[in-house]
This record gives sequence, C-alpha cells and structure tokens, in this order.
Amino acid sequence: MSQIPVAKPVLDEHEVEAVRRVILSGWVTQGPEVAAFEEEFADFVGARHACAVSNCTTALHLALKAVGVDAGDEVITVSHTFIATANAIRYCGAVPVFVDIEKDGYNIDPDLIEAAITPRTKAIVCVHQLGMPCDLHRIVAIAARHSIPVIEDAACATGSEILWKGRWEKIGKPHGDIACFSFHPRKVVTTGDGGMLTTANPEYDRKFRLWRQHGMSVTDAVRHGSKQVIFESYPELGYNYRMTDMQAAVGREQLKRLPAIIARRREIASHYTEKLSSAADVELPNEPTWARSNWQSFCLKLASYLDQRDVMQELLDRGVSTRRGIMNIHLEGAYSEPGSHRVVTSLQQSVAAQQHSIILPLFAQMEGSDVTCVVEAVQASVSPHLAIERVG
Ligand SMILES: *Cc1c(COP(=O)(O)O)cnc(C)c1O
Repeated sequence: MSQIPVAKPVLDEHEVEAVRRVILSGWVTQGPEVAAFEEEFADFVGARHACAVSNCTTALHLALKAVGVDAGDEVITVSHTFIATANAIRYCGAVPVFVDIEKDGYNIDPDLIEAAITPRTKAIVCVHQLGMPCDLHRIVAIAARHSIPVIEDAACATGSEILWKGRWEKIGKPHGDIACFSFHPRKVVTTGDGGMLTTANPEYDRKFRLWRQHGMSVTDAVRHGSKQVIFESYPELGYNYRMTDMQAAVGREQLKRLPAIIARRREIASHYTEKLSSAADVELPNEPTWARSNWQSFCLKLASYLDQRDVMQELLDRGVSTRRGIMNIHLEGAYSEPGSHRVVTSLQQSVAAQQHSIILPLFAQMEGSDVTCVVEAVQASVSPHLAIERVG
C-alpha cells in the first residue's frame, strides 16, 4: 500500500522552464526575476513594498533590525511555533518573551500580551500558525496603545485572509508593520528556500534592500545599467540574504498557481471538517468568522486519553503519514540556558497542544480517494474502543 504523505509541493515543467530561461539569460541572482517576483507578490497581498530574501528566518532578522530591536531588548512572541521565530530574535541579541496560545487554537492569546510588556519590549512577533490568521485586530490595537511595532510571522500564511474593516484582505498587506513569508517546500508555495518581507513603510523597505546585499550602497542592477563608472561603498553592516533569480522565477510560477492551490486546500479542509466533526475524540481546527486560512496545515487535537504516538503509528499502519503538531521552543535544548528567553505566564495551552495535536496530510494534488482514506483512518484510529484496549 502506498503511503499518503503529509505534504507535497506542486511543481512541474512550468517551473523547470522558468529556471531554464533564467540560467540561459546569464543573470542568476537578485536580478530581473527577483524584481518581478517582488512586484507580483506585493500585488497579490496588496502591499506597498515587497523585498525578497533567502528565507523567512532572514526576513524575520531584518524585520526585527528595521524596527530597532537590539541587544538586551525584549520581543514578545509564542513558544508554540517553529524555532526560527525565536532564533531570529536572539540573532539581534534580544530576549524572546513567551506567552501562551489561545485555548481553542494555536495562535497567541491576545489577553496575555499586555502583562508581558515591559519598558524593554521593542516588538511583538505574532505568528499566523499553520496558516490561520491570528487576531490582528486585537494585537494591533494593544501594540498601538503601547507604541510597539508588530511583526507578523506569516511564514505559513501566503494567501490567508482576514476580514478588515468589512473587507477580506490578504495577510501581508501588512496589518502590522512588517510581514515575513517563507517559501520552504513545507509551505503552500515554494522556491526551494526563499522569503519575502512586505511593508507599507518605504524606509523599512530601503533598509531591507541595503542589508540583504552586504550593506552595499549601490545595487548590481544600478551599477550594471550605469553609463558611468560607479564605486560602491559599505556604510553599515549588512548580510548576504539574497534570493537567486532561479528561485524567483519558480516563485512567479508558484504565484500563478496559488489561487487554485488554495481553493483545493480549502475544499479538502472543509471535507475533513465535515467528516470528522462527529468524532468525539478529536477537536477540529477553529476558523474564526473573520479569518480564512490557506490551510497550510490541518491540525487535530486529540482527546487527552488518546496517546499521540500510538494514534500516529496507527495511522501510519493504515497508510497515512502524520506529523505531531507544533513544538514549543522553551522545551528545546537551545533554549535551556537561563537568559535565552523569558516566560511570563503559564504555557499550559502550548504544552498541551504539542502533546495532543497531530497534522493530517493536506496537499493540492490529493485525490478524493486519498481524502476518504485519511478520514476513515482517523475515524478508526481515534475510536475510544481502541483507547480503552490500549489502556487495558
Ligand atoms: C517555516 C517557518 C519559519 C522559517 O521559514 P524558513 O523559510 O525555513 O526560514 C518561521 N516561522 C514559522 C512559523 C515557520 O513555520
């Protein structure tokens, strides 16, 4: 029996042809394809500026630098996220301050933010976990009251939407100050690796462009196009966070596919929701009325009497691959040293989510029969009858 994977990127001859075109053009990094990808991405999410970088981790690093996060500062975020969210904060010499997630979801609990704010708080990094928009209305309002910038970790949220002043808008407009996206193959569209920063602030965008290219005063495009000799200078410390033109060309093809990919993902998610809503032993993901997920992942929370590893093994035996839900950063070795982070409140919901949640297969190429197979395998694997047997 062939195994149903958790995820699968949508790539074919279109992407191959795009890369071929770039290679034969002779301009292979941060050139015309990157510029076009930035423009098309900005257009798609409705942003004034979009700046492509090497991945979402480097995007987060530059976003934090742009809002002025420095050594000794604090940045409020969640522990219940991919480790890169907090690592980027530490790259700035700052301290991640972890607050818990909501009881009925996997995003930051806005009720807990205010208590975590101190005079050293320089930013809030909210994560649209698994593609589900976090409660930006409340987060942005709290941040505004305290004049703290909001950086959205939108790594998983390309194409997700939020109802904003009566209109559906894409995540990344951005509704905070800066949004950071990932194009890793585990996300809904991919460039192999890749990232994007969006903002309405032209000064932030200027900084991103400077820092991603070693802090170099003139871009290659300007120097290449100039009729006069130009000597570049390096007025401040920069990085090599460039995206290549091969990646950007793939990204442009992926953007064309994105509406169809998301439509299909939403179809599969609503099928899961419909078929699994009667299962008493699992809690389904909650999509608030003001949010439309891109369903980067479909995460179930198992009843506490079910063992996560046993259920996952049972599903694997039935041909269905799963992953456990999101991890908690504060439990990882890289965060065991005192001073590496600060915890304000109990992280009870975060810990429970890691222990009890599993991610089901969801990718655009799934056939109806795959979806049925997953549903039936879940129904069989989470039945209380089995749980009792296991206990006994
Ligand atoms: C994937 C992911 C990242 C890191 O993205 P890369 O492009 O791999 O650097 C950061 N934050 C979250 C929430 C992610 O899921």
